Amino acid sequence: MVARAARAADLADLDGAVSDCFACPRLVAWREEVARVKRAAFRDQDYWGRPVPGLGPPDARIAILGLAPAAHGGNRTGRIFTGDRSGDVLFAALHRAGLANQPTSVSADDGLTLRDTRIFAAVRCAPPDNKPTPAERDTCAPWLHREVELIRPTLRVVVALGAFAWAAWWPVLRQVYGQRPPTPRPVFGHGAHWSGESVPALLGCYHVSQQNTFTGRLTPAMLDDVFTRAKELAGVD
Ligand code: SF4
Repeated sequence: MVARAARAADLADLDGAVSDCFACPRLVAWREEVARVKRAAFRDQDYWGRPVPGLGPPDARIAILGLAPAAHGGNRTGRIFTGDRSGDVLFAALHRAGLANQPTSVSADDGLTLRDTRIFAAVRCAPPDNKPTPAERDTCAPWLHREVELIRPTLRVVVALGAFAWAAWWPVLRQVYGQRPPTPRPVFGHGAHWSGESVPALLGCYHVSQQNTFTGRLTPAMLDDVFTRAKELAGVD
């Protein structure tokens, strides 16, 4: 799997290869079970039930790094943050920021396109309770590392959605940029900002999960501030 990720010549190749990954037995079983059992509201739909690749153009200057696909969102539709409440909040914010052509993301063929932005997750398969194990995170890391490598020429800013994504960034520094991560590691927080030399800036943002958005811990205005900052740092108009 590591070798396959490293061999991916471009994003299309990587997206195809990751979609065919079976490296984590627990997650493979879970993604397939969810796709078979389904949620009542989606029982007439064919679930994707496989790893979910990244989304966005290869010359992205901003990356949004999430945790993992949702069982009935990305794992159903085959597109990251698509078809769930987290995506509703995220894509509405990206649209307000001028980084998405539409404010909703309901299915893989709904016409959504992103500008200057690539979205991907630290773990590419939906995990039970949204909680991958450390071993699953590490097993999946080569996909993330290769994806960052492929957009490295233009990438300027990474927005980490939540502490898991924030922590997943440090190995990227070593693997992709050949840099030793800072010690101690900068602490995750909403609005946290870390920058190093010749590497993308890292911005922390609370995850767009319902737990955060329904409770008001993360508001649309807070997301707008993060994407305004990301655009400034990335030089995106
Ligand atoms: S989580 Fe990542 S490494 Fe594990 S099966 Fe899914 S795509 Fe493969």
